[in-house]
Amino acid sequence: MTDSPRPDPAFTGGVVKPSYARLLEPQTVFARRAQRFRALASGHDLSPYLSFLADLCEAQHDIQEGLPPTELPSADALARAREFAMPPLDRNRFTADAACDATFAELFGRIERCALTPAAHVALQKVRNADAAGLAVMTQAVLSDSIPVESLAEHVFVAAALQVHFARLAAQLDARELVAVGDGVCPVCGGPPASSLVVAWEGSGGARFCACALCSTQWNYIRAKCCVCGSTKSITYQGIEGDPGTIKAECCDECRTYVKVLYQEKDNALDPIADDVASLGLDLLVRETGLRRGGVNPFLIGY
Ligand SMILES: [Zn+2]
Ligand SMILES: [Zn+2]
Repeated sequence: MTDSPRPDPAFTGGVVKPSYARLLEPQTVFARRAQRFRALASGHDLSPYLSFLADLCEAQHDIQEGLPPTELPSADALARAREFAMPPLDRNRFTADAACDATFAELFGRIERCALTPAAHVALQKVRNADAAGLAVMTQAVLSDSIPVESLAEHVFVAAALQVHFARLAAQLDARELVAVGDGVCPVCGGPPASSLVVAWEGSGGARFCACALCSTQWNYIRAKCCVCGSTKSITYQGIEGDPGTIKAECCDECRTYVKVLYQEKDNALDPIADDVASLGLDLLVRETGLRRGGVNPFLIGY
């Protein structure tokens, strides 16, 4: 599978200017991520968990073919969102529809076929048996980044279903119509980035893109600028000594957070969600300095 963006007609100084935002194809993003989790799992301290996430991403990929089409907000609502620089698929105003309900049902059913620990199996039964109100509460917790630590496993399944639903919705948008809606905010769903990527696409000139864990959108964000508060005053980078330098934490002394930067220009296989989980060692190191994670990745909550 290739990872090149669609050609961009906007030329500046003879160099192709990268689009502001990039919408990934749901038909490939989860399959690629499953492969990446699988590769990372080999010989890793977190191997069983990474293998479980590989299975989960495979399930996210597999169920899509049988799902009903997703429905975007009306053209008027999309135009209004653009006019007022609001996210067109605002996660804070989300309510589940038939396509979302079907995604929950199909994904939870498909996960039954994954190798699950007894605890994960119990969690799966809980989400499968949850009524609409119970699912709505869990959906709300995922979308507001307030997943309760005591029921993490249930929320990982709900988050995985919402990733499929939002990625399918986002893919129906026109990337050229997307506008910046604020520092550290996804221009499609209004959420925080999980991590960021310095990309190696032809003509991208080493541009940095933030990556959303919910809708899979990637948006251009200048380098050496905090992805959380937008400050450029005191940005430093921390990596793990002796590693290949493909992942660093971009640390901001203004808001005391960090967001990872993945150098895809050094390794094109890096995935903003999978490699974020697999580089947990970097989180542990940076947290010792008193900084907290600015990126939100539902697969990393609880660590
Ligand atoms: Zn998003
Ligand atoms: Zn900051």
